[in-house]
Amino acid sequence: MENEVAPPGVNINVPHSARIYDYWLGGKDNFAVDRAVGEAMIKAIPGMRYMAAENRKFVHRAARNLVEKEGIRQFLDIGTGIPTRPNLHEVAQRIEPTARVVYVDNDPIVLVHARALMISTEQGRSEYISADIRDPASLLKDPVLLETLDFSQPIGLTLIAILMLIADQDDPWAGVAALRDAMPSGSCLAITHPTADFAPEEVGEAVAAATSAGMTLVARTREAVERLFGDWELLEPGLVPVSSWRPDEQVDNPKAAYYWAGVARKP
Ligand code: SAH
Repeated sequence: MENEVAPPGVNINVPHSARIYDYWLGGKDNFAVDRAVGEAMIKAIPGMRYMAAENRKFVHRAARNLVEKEGIRQFLDIGTGIPTRPNLHEVAQRIEPTARVVYVDNDPIVLVHARALMISTEQGRSEYISADIRDPASLLKDPVLLETLDFSQPIGLTLIAILMLIADQDDPWAGVAALRDAMPSGSCLAITHPTADFAPEEVGEAVAAATSAGMTLVARTREAVERLFGDWELLEPGLVPVSSWRPDEQVDNPKAAYYWAGVARKP
């Protein structure tokens, strides 16, 4: 933030993923400590801002595809981040005004912006809850979640650029499995996850820059990301570089954004 005054509960001495990502996307909700790590990561990966933008574009394409092609009318988006327009509910409600979205994040800076996330169409709904993906049992019991989404109807579960922030010891596979189990048949799971598969050196250096600043950041292999989908069926075109997932225009070098991306449906 320009004057570097932190909202309550926000620690500006420790870098935070939501604020670093906001910095890459050109937002204003970041502090010196976030910009320092953000710049160190750009030094390692010169295409970092492009990667963040490609990840955001996937959010839009996935939301559109889930509403238009898979009939999804309600979303659970965990690891929402600082609002960046268009947000998921805006994309979904543009096509289907009755769409409902529950946003989840555990960073107090996202909470500060929660009201901006909750501006919904009159026919639809958009809500925000503070919860941690590492505790899916509590998350799934949240009264606002249960009141907003109908767990007897398909849900679009979106875990976009969040799971790299969960260490192996915290078992993201078990956490995601618990979320999958709570979803009815016909639900869809969309994931993007950074990987070192396309550019091991660059990504290794970027991860080192983040971890040496005290952050948890794990790049994962295609196989490790694929396991997050469990027995759900990957929709076309499968688990692919993020820019290759149902692109709107031709992409010259799909491996220039170092993320795996996929959408799967619960049988
Ligand atoms: N999904 C958005 C933002 C990604 S930034 C997008 O792709 O555009 C990652 C977000 O995950 C941050 O806002 C961060 O606060 C959140 N996050 C990190 N760890 C989390 C956890 N354990 N539980 C919930 N949210 C978490």
